[in-house]
Amino acid sequence: MDLKFVQTTCPYCGTGCTFNLVVKDGKVVGSTAYQRSPVNMGKTCPKGTYAYEFVNSPKRLTTPLIKKDGEFVEATWDEAYKLIAEKFKGYKAEEMACLSSARTSNEDNYALMKFARGALKTKHIDHCARLCHSSTVAGLAAVFGSGAMTNSIPDIEESKCIFIIGSNTFEQHPLIGRRVMMAKKKGAKLIYADPRYTPTAKQADIYMQFKSGGDVAILNCFMHEIIKNGWEDKEFIANRTKGYEELKALVMKDDYSPENVEKITGIPAATLREAAELYGKAESGALLYSMGITQHTVGVDNVKSTAHLQMVTGNLGRPGTGVNALRGQNNVQGACDMGALPVVFTGYQKVIDPVAHKKFEDAWGFPDGIAPAENGYEVTTMVNVMSDNPGELKAMYIMGENPLLSDPNIDHAKHAFESLEFLVVQDIFLTETAQIADVVLPATCYAEKDGTQTSTERRVQKWRKAQDPPGVAKLDWKILAEVAGAMGYADQFAWETSEDVFNEIAAVTPSYHGMNYERLDKPEALHWPCPEVDHPGTPILHTQKFATADGLGVLSAIEWKAPAEVPDEEYPYIFTTGRTIWHWHTGTMTRNSPTLDHEVPTGWIEINPDDAKELGIAYGEKVRAITRRGEVEVTAKVTRDIMKGVMFMPFHFAECPANRLTNDALDPVSKIPEYKACAIKIEKIQEA
Ligand code: SF4
Repeated sequence: MDLKFVQTTCPYCGTGCTFNLVVKDGKVVGSTAYQRSPVNMGKTCPKGTYAYEFVNSPKRLTTPLIKKDGEFVEATWDEAYKLIAEKFKGYKAEEMACLSSARTSNEDNYALMKFARGALKTKHIDHCARLCHSSTVAGLAAVFGSGAMTNSIPDIEESKCIFIIGSNTFEQHPLIGRRVMMAKKKGAKLIYADPRYTPTAKQADIYMQFKSGGDVAILNCFMHEIIKNGWEDKEFIANRTKGYEELKALVMKDDYSPENVEKITGIPAATLREAAELYGKAESGALLYSMGITQHTVGVDNVKSTAHLQMVTGNLGRPGTGVNALRGQNNVQGACDMGALPVVFTGYQKVIDPVAHKKFEDAWGFPDGIAPAENGYEVTTMVNVMSDNPGELKAMYIMGENPLLSDPNIDHAKHAFESLEFLVVQDIFLTETAQIADVVLPATCYAEKDGTQTSTERRVQKWRKAQDPPGVAKLDWKILAEVAGAMGYADQFAWETSEDVFNEIAAVTPSYHGMNYERLDKPEALHWPCPEVDHPGTPILHTQKFATADGLGVLSAIEWKAPAEVPDEEYPYIFTTGRTIWHWHTGTMTRNSPTLDHEVPTGWIEINPDDAKELGIAYGEKVRAITRRGEVEVTAKVTRDIMKGVMFMPFHFAECPANRLTNDALDPVSKIPEYKACAIKIEKIQEA
C-alpha cells in the first residue's frame, strides 16, 4: 500500500498540536500521532484526531459561483475575477471593507491585509479576533505593552498553583488541559472559577461557581485578601510596576471583601478566602483565561484585572507563571500579528504612525499609494454602520469567516450584511454567510497548503500540503493575488509560493524578522519575538521588563460593573454561551466531520433542576428560549452543572442558533460583544 505521512498543525484550537496526515493515492484518509512536538507530544483531542474527515467532504466548494437571478451559477476563475475587479473599481475606498480569518494561514491573512490596504485602499479590515480576544489585545497591551500570552504551554507544567477563570480548558484547549494535569501530578493545585461545572471543574482542588459577569469582583477580592494578609510580592511591585497605591486603595475597599463579593458572585466567602490564600502563598502561580473573561462589555477591565493579580503576586516573567490568554482559533494570534485589524499593520505597527505608514507604502510600492494613515472600523462597528446607515459601506470581501452564525444578535447582523450591494465570500464550504454572497470563491483547507499559523503561545508552526485541493479551488493568498492582478496590481502580489509570502512578512515584521521556513521546520518551531536569524525565539515574555515605554507594568483601579443587561421580572435568568469539545465555532468543519457530528448532532440549553422544576420543564423537552433579540426552539438539558438562575447554550448549531439570543452590546475600548451574559426567559412549548 502506498501511504504517505505529512506532518501538519491542527486547524482547530489555538493550542497548535502537530499530527501526521495519512495520504493514500494522493488523498488524505486519516491521521496519526507525530511524537516530536513539544506542545502535544503525540496526543490529540477528538477534534484533532478527526480533523482529516472534512477535507474530502462532498460538500466542499470546488468552483467559483456567481449569483444570477438569486441562484448560484458555476463560473470560471476569469469570470469571477473580472466581475469582482469591475465592481470594486466602481466603489470609493471607504465604501469597501474586508474580513480576514483566524482559520487561515499567516500568509493568507497578510495577503488580505495587503489587498485591503493596498489594492482596495480601504482602512476597514478586521476579523473574528474582535469577537473573541480583542479585549486581550487591548487589555494586555495597556498593562504590559504587548497583547499576547506571556508564557508557553510546556511552561504551565512548572506551575505550583494554576488559576483558571472563564475558560473550559479541558474541553476547549484539551492539550493545554493535559499540561494542567501534568502539573497537578507534580503537586500543583488547581483553582477554577466558571459559571458551569465543566470537565475542568471536575479536576479542580477549589471550584468557584459564579454568576456570569462577576470576574472583576472575584479578582479584586483575591487581591484584597492577598494584600490584607501580606502575601503580595512587595519587591516585584516596587521594582516592576507603577500605580500600586491607586489599585490598593480600590481593592481594599469593603466592597471587595469576601462577604460582599459573595453577594455579587454567589461564591461563598469562605471559598473565596481559601482560594485567595492558596494562590497568594503559592511559589508560582499561572493564570489561564479565555472567553469567559474577554466576551463582556467589561472585557478589557476583566483582562487588566487578571494582569493586576499576576503583578501583585509577582507571577510574571518566570516559568510556571504568567497571564496565559488561551486564544480560540488555530491562527487567531497570527491573524492579529499579520495586521488583519483596523488599527495596525503586521507586528502591531500602528497605521496612524506616519513612520510605519511610510514603511509599508515604500515596501509595497503601489503606484497610487495605500489606505490613509487612519484607523478603520472594527467588524462590530461595520455591522452597526451597515444596519444604521445603509449605503455607507457598500461592498465587502470576506475570507473564511461566517458572521451570520458567529456574530451576536444574528438577525440584526444578517439584516446588516444583506444591505451590502456586493459581497464576495472566499471559503471551503457554502456557509450561512456564503449563501447570501454575490460571488463565492472556493479556497483550500489546511491539508492542501503550505503555510504557517501562530498558536496561542506565539509559536509559529507550519502547515504542509498533503493533497491537491478539490476541483479548481485555490490557495487563499493566490486568489487574493489574482483578484489584485485583475485590478492592475499584479506586480505587488507577484509571489510564486507560500514561502515567498512568508519571507515578505518576515521582512516587514520585527517580531518575525528572524524566522524562515527552514527554521520553522524544527519540531519546536519558534516563538515570537524572534528579531534575528540567530535568535532562539522567546517562550517567556517580560522576564526583565515589560514592553511599555518605561518598562513598568501598569496597575490601576478597576471597579466591578454589572453586565449591560441583567435579569429582571420579564427576563429573569442569566444567559451565557460556549462550546463543546466535539464542535468548533460555527461548525463549518466539525459538522462536516461525520464522527464529530455523530457524537453531538445538535444543540441544547442547560437549565438547573431547581429552575426546571419551577418552570415545569423535563429533561429532553423542547423549550422556547427568548431574549430581547430573538427566540430559539431548543432541547432542555436539565443539569446541576449549571447554577440556579443561569442558562447555557453552545453556539455551533444553525438550527438552534444561540447567537440569535446574545447581546450585541460592546466593550467601549475593544468593541467586543457581551456574548457571556444577558437576560433570558424560557417558555415551555405546549403540545398542540
Ligand atoms: Fe487540535 Fe486543539 Fe485538540 Fe490540539 S487541543 S488537537 S490543537 S483542537
